[in-house]
Parts: sequence; C-alpha cells; structure tokens
Amino acid sequence: MQKKYSSLQQVQEALRSGQTSCRELVSYYLGQIQENKALNAFLEVYSAEALSYADEIDRKLSSKQDPGKLFGLTVGIKDVICYKGHRVTAASKILENFESTFTATAVERLVAEGAIILGRLNCDEFAMGSSSENSAFGPVRNAADPSKVPGGSSGGSAVAVQAEMCLAALGSDTGGSVRQPASFCNVVGLKPAYGRISRHGLIAYASSFDIIGTLTNCLEDASRMLEVMAGPDEFDSTAIQESWKVNEAASERAKKLAYFPAVMNHKGLDPEIKSAVQDFLQQQEATGIEVHPVEFPYLEYMVPTYYVLTTAEASSNLARYDGVHFGFRSEDSRDIESMYRKSRTEAIGEEVRRRIMLGTFVLSAGHYDAYFTKAQKVRRLIAEKTADILSEYDFIVTPTTPTTAFPLDAGEYRDPISMYLADIYTVQANLAGVPAISLPLFHHSNGMPFGIQLMSSKFEEHRLLAYGQQIMSNLRPA
Ligand code: GLN
Repeated sequence: MQKKYSSLQQVQEALRSGQTSCRELVSYYLGQIQENKALNAFLEVYSAEALSYADEIDRKLSSKQDPGKLFGLTVGIKDVICYKGHRVTAASKILENFESTFTATAVERLVAEGAIILGRLNCDEFAMGSSSENSAFGPVRNAADPSKVPGGSSGGSAVAVQAEMCLAALGSDTGGSVRQPASFCNVVGLKPAYGRISRHGLIAYASSFDIIGTLTNCLEDASRMLEVMAGPDEFDSTAIQESWKVNEAASERAKKLAYFPAVMNHKGLDPEIKSAVQDFLQQQEATGIEVHPVEFPYLEYMVPTYYVLTTAEASSNLARYDGVHFGFRSEDSRDIESMYRKSRTEAIGEEVRRRIMLGTFVLSAGHYDAYFTKAQKVRRLIAEKTADILSEYDFIVTPTTPTTAFPLDAGEYRDPISMYLADIYTVQANLAGVPAISLPLFHHSNGMPFGIQLMSSKFEEHRLLAYGQQIMSNLRPA
C-alpha cells in the first residue's frame, strides 16, 4: 500500500510549502481512522482537539513563529500512557472510564514540539500478551490480513502506522511489545535502552523492564522522536541524565556482527524467516563486514526468566487496582474483602489474572528463593553475557519473531506457553536493558511481512539507528 506520507520530513515539506495545511493533514488521518475502524486500533479519537491543535500550527506557520521540531507529526498513543484529561484504561475493564490526572513526560515533550495526539490505541490488557487479543475492548486486526493478529502488546500502535491512521505511534516494550508487532505489521519498531526515556506516566507492568518505544515508517522519524522524548526527568529516577541528539553525521559502519546458531537452529523458527536472516547476513558479509556465529548458552532460559521476573513485578504493580483507588468497583460486594475480590475478579481479564497469581506465587515466602532469586541470578548472567558479546561485536542480529502473524483465535496459541514462546528473541534486550530495533525488511510467501532485529550495547541507539538506516536504504529503497 502506497502511503501518502511516509516520513515527518515529507509532511513538514508539504506544510512549509503550503501544499497542504495542518488542518487538511489532520483531517486526512481522521478519515483514515474512520475508514479502518474495523481493525479496532483506536479506542478513542480526539478529533476536535486534534483539529484545533492543527489550526494552532497553521497559525504559527503563517505568522512565521516556531511551530516546534515535530510540527505536523500525528501520533497515536498506546492506552497505557497517560495524557491529562483523557481516559487511560490499559485496555482493561478495571480502568474503564478512568481519566489521567497528569501527562506522561514522553507525551508532554512530544506535544511541546508540535506533535498532534490523535487518540489512544488498543493493546493487550496491561500490555500483557503477544497478539492484542487480550483487550477488554476486542482484538486488533492486522491490516495486511484482518484474519491475522497484529502482534502485541502494542498491536493498535503498529496497525495505526501500518494502515496510515497516524504517522507514528507510541508503544511500550517490556519483552518485545514494540518490536514483535512492528515485525508483524511491516513498520519500524524501536525499543530504546532501559532508562533512555522517562517512564513517568507509563502504566507499570514490570518496572525494571518497561520502556516507551516508537512505531514509525522510517528510522529518521524514530530518531527525531527519541531526541525529543529522551533525557532526565525529576519524576523518574531511572531515566538517565544524558539527553540524546540526532546526529546527522553518524554514519557508523558496522564492522562485526554476531548471530547465535542456537537462535538460527531453533525448532520453532519458520524456515523462510531463517533463510531470509541467513541471506541478510551473507549480504552483509559480502560488503566487507565480519559475521560470526557466537555461542549464547542461555536461549532456553530467556523466556522462563522473563516470565518469573515480570509476573513478580506485575503482581506488585497491579495490587493497586483494588476497586477502591481506581476505576471499576463490583456492585455486589458485602464487605471489604469481597469488594476487593469481586472487583478484581470481575474486571481483570484471564491472562492478567494468571500473571498476578503466578507472580504472587514466585514471590511467596516458601518459593521466593527457588524462583524469584534464581531468576534474578539468571537475568544477571544473561545481561553480562549480552554485554560481553556486544563489547566485542557491534550488533547482534536475530529474527524479530519466530513466525509471521498468526490467525486470530489460533488454536495452538490458545495455550499460554506457546504464546510466551513468541517472545523468544525479543526478551533478551529487556532482560539486558539494551536497545533493539526491528526493521521491516521481508515478506513471507504466505503474504505476511516480517522483520529483522538488531541489538546494540546499552545507550548506543545512535549506532543502531545509523546502521539500521544503511540497511534500510540498501535493502529497501524508497
Ligand atoms: N509479549 C510479552 C508479554 O506478554 C511482552 C509484552 C510487552 O513487551 N509489554 O509479556
């Protein structure tokens, strides 16, 4: 599908030259949202408000005032990110009708630079899932084939960009939720390093893994958004002190790439995806880059470690949704205990309940050391090994996902363990806190797109984006 605008640069040129007005631009996207309603990507659209922001930008442009670095960037935000005066529900009934009382730092910074928020995007409940089917407000559908899932948990964000309902979207990535849907929907998904962007105003799933990420058509837009959102924030002490600047001159050449034979030979990996990644590595080698197989002994521990730790953190983070503080309260409670129990039972979906219980179990006195402490130790080993490899190699290359988008309600994925294995290649970056990106390079013979994943050392998003840019311009000419 040919998009009308595939980069912010194009949009800004059109606006500056008077070829279009910002009002016209926003109306175009609102029309696209309307047209693609059946995909269920947007949970709410802020039409009137977006049009009035657009008018403000038109005024600034015609009176030669500075419209901001990101003027004209139409953005959808995943429904786990707060925007003052607007509802935020984490796609859960327990927060239905809950209104944000403040704006997430990331969103505040985008808006201050002229971005226009078009609405909030559907996702898996509390960002838990890999298919965007765990939403209390119905599943999201993949625009390339509406009988297929868009991936998750930021499925609405990926589809919104895929079907040109906005130019860019914010997602959150705890274990792959930006990259996996990006791969399934043929868009660029960037998960910055842990701490790169403030988590203030991001509804917590697993606080030591969570990070806001972007879904865009191109790397340049990801990089321009990152520049605006990154940097210290007094409301999040894990946000790093350094700001991050777009470096036009960065033209880092990769010299050494690592890949893991254990990943490439994994039985769950689709053979066409495997050969696309192998071909990619060969092409890179042909340009003079060294490509090496590297032993990574922890592949089979990655998903279990991730799920022990994230469910533990989630059970603690989600304890606040008790029918008292936020949102939903059961009508039929007799005393305080039944109010808690019934509110949580009636309004929290099956997958989230499963994870709260699993997390509570691994944190319980009798099992803490066997599961939680052990998983912390394995996380440390995975993080150290990843850092070691990345000190010797510029990037680790893997497929983003073992398969392409699967059908909605797919029998084999009804089993939670199979669904968890969809994250096998993406969780490493979150366990280690390193940045990672999914590039939309390939199409499968089944008609669906899929991406390739690159990881770099912590806080080296520059190199990741520069190398990604080279790959995109060589392998996917505009
Ligand atoms: N699919 C993974 C999970 O269910 C990742 C989710 C995420 O990154 N938010 O936990």
